[in-house]
Amino acid sequence: MTAPGDRLVDYDALVVGAGPAGSATAAALARQGHRVIVIDRDDVPGTKPCGELVTPRAVAALGHCGIDESALSRFHRVSHIRLTTATRSTSTRWPSHDDHPGHGYVAARSELDELLVAEAVARGATVLRGHEATAPIVDRGFVRGAHVIGSGDPFEIRARFTVVADGANSRFGRALGTYREPTWPLAVAHRAIFPSALHDAAEAELVIDLSDRSGTPISGFGWLFPRGDGTVNVGVMIMSTSPSFRVINPAHLLDAFVADQRTRWHLADEPIEPAAGGRIPLGNSVGPIAGPTYLVVGDAAGAANPLTGAGIEYAVETGMLAGGVLAEALRSDSATALQRYPQLLADRYGSYYQVGRLLDRALGRPAVGRRVAAFASSRPAFAGPVVRLAGNQLRSRYPGATEFAYRIARACTLVAPDH
Ligand SMILES: Cc1cc2nc3c(=O)[nH]c(=O)nc-3n(C[C@H](O)[C@H](O)[C@H](O)COP(=O)(O)OP(=O)(O)OC[C@H]3O[C@@H](n4cnc5c(N)ncnc54)[C@H](O)[C@@H]3O)c2cc1C
Repeated sequence: MTAPGDRLVDYDALVVGAGPAGSATAAALARQGHRVIVIDRDDVPGTKPCGELVTPRAVAALGHCGIDESALSRFHRVSHIRLTTATRSTSTRWPSHDDHPGHGYVAARSELDELLVAEAVARGATVLRGHEATAPIVDRGFVRGAHVIGSGDPFEIRARFTVVADGANSRFGRALGTYREPTWPLAVAHRAIFPSALHDAAEAELVIDLSDRSGTPISGFGWLFPRGDGTVNVGVMIMSTSPSFRVINPAHLLDAFVADQRTRWHLADEPIEPAAGGRIPLGNSVGPIAGPTYLVVGDAAGAANPLTGAGIEYAVETGMLAGGVLAEALRSDSATALQRYPQLLADRYGSYYQVGRLLDRALGRPAVGRRVAAFASSRPAFAGPVVRLAGNQLRSRYPGATEFAYRIARACTLVAPDH
């Protein structure tokens, strides 16, 4: 390690971004004794606008990452999901699953991200906040870290491997040549947090019959997630398969949604902070996700669920998979292990995400979207399977109606074009 002013350092891995994906990668690697540094451009964790729903699958993923349920108990627990349209509403428990609990949480992102960072630090990772990676260091064709700017002069962080965990816009990933498959579905979402007397409801509600100003159905949903602290997270998610996707302004749609729900949910007149949102690349739509000395994780890899836009669990899961692969490469002193990472993701998500893309396209057709919304919100016996499928909680043991429907959809992907 030679360093003018201690600024040039050598690590086993540099992780760019301390969101759930970056912290999970760092925790997995540091746990195995490797020297990891994580940098994040923000001074404080969890500034990302989010619906903050930690699904049962996410609870399980966080547990595997070292954050057990006792740490999550500070957040507001939700045991049910309510699906609502203009004329119907039904509530269902989260589906039962061998590997996931029967509940989720609504977790303030600042606190959730802080928990994950603390886990990485507890395992031995170094975390530098207020430091932005401005460009990769490329040495004879291999990525060897990043040029970094903090409060002082720019400097370099050098590492054997680099992990791209810089979120949905992923400028660092783009500098390495990643791109999003333009014909695959994408979501945009916008949220605000309002004081509400219903802040400690045990249900998370999804309103599944949004429409645009002309009354044409929008593929997506509105949400109301109680935070248990006097406030409710309210938001809208719009899939790019919606007919009017290009002309819908998510901020205006959120305003209209809040106005519709104000009385039902006792929403205060003003949010506690300005509304904000962003894009969510879906269904592993970004690639390449592995290079000779780097891997791409979480939103930077477009890892979020194509049916719901939920990305926390996939950020944590892909981070841990990447951490495992990098640990193997460091242990064996061979970078070839990195090339297994795309296959690991394909094995875990490939079929489900392909079905998700197919269903996104089908639901983007107003007639189909309307019928599915009416069906799902009509009774718990229908809502449960819909939530199971959309939440990627299919059972491998004791398959039921949802798994049967999924197999039919999967068979359809063999003949339907994937674009
Ligand atoms: C409005 C909205 C609502 C959502 N609601 C939910 C929900 O309810 N449940 C759910 O599961 N998912 C939800 N998602 C998706 C979820 O937020 C993301 O999938 C998740 O945050 C991805 O985690 P990540 O670590 O990959 O990226 P991020 O959480 O975006 O973290 C990336 C980090 O990288 C840092 N960074 C970026 N560039 C640089 C750089 N050059 N140098 C250093 N640091 C950098 C950023 O500061 C950030 O901290 C929502 C998304 C949006 C937009």
